[in-house]
Amino acid sequence: MEDCLFCRIVSGEIPSDKIYEDDKVLAFRDIDPKAPVHVLIIPKKHFKSVMDAQGEDAEYITALFDTARRVADELGVSDSGFRLVINTGRDGGQTVPHLHIHLLGGRELGWPPG
Ligand code: AMP
Repeated sequence: MEDCLFCRIVSGEIPSDKIYEDDKVLAFRDIDPKAPVHVLIIPKKHFKSVMDAQGEDAEYITALFDTARRVADELGVSDSGFRLVINTGRDGGQTVPHLHIHLLGGRELGWPPG
């Protein structure tokens, strides 16, 4: 997807502050952080949203959650706690149409979200 921002980050065309990468996923710091720890975890395969990730894509879904645990450990928030957020579609506040998990932590997070 040449016009997809996150696909361009995966290809290296657009630089990112990488935290972790393997053959299935990339984790990098959000450019506009909403918490002291704010990392985006994305599949290297393009899915527009969670609605597009089907059963045969299970290895990507597993890799996303494995990476969330790894990043939480590496950035020191696994004991204090953190939040995983997947904004989906217009009402969900999704602005980049490439499936991504926000990992937020490093401060107490309010609930419910706005
Ligand atoms: P969402 O609104 O859930 O689709 O999240 C998209 C996120 O991508 C926002 O938190 C943006 O700050 C973030 N973002 C947009 N462009 C970049 C970029 N070039 N590098 C890192 N994060 C980005």
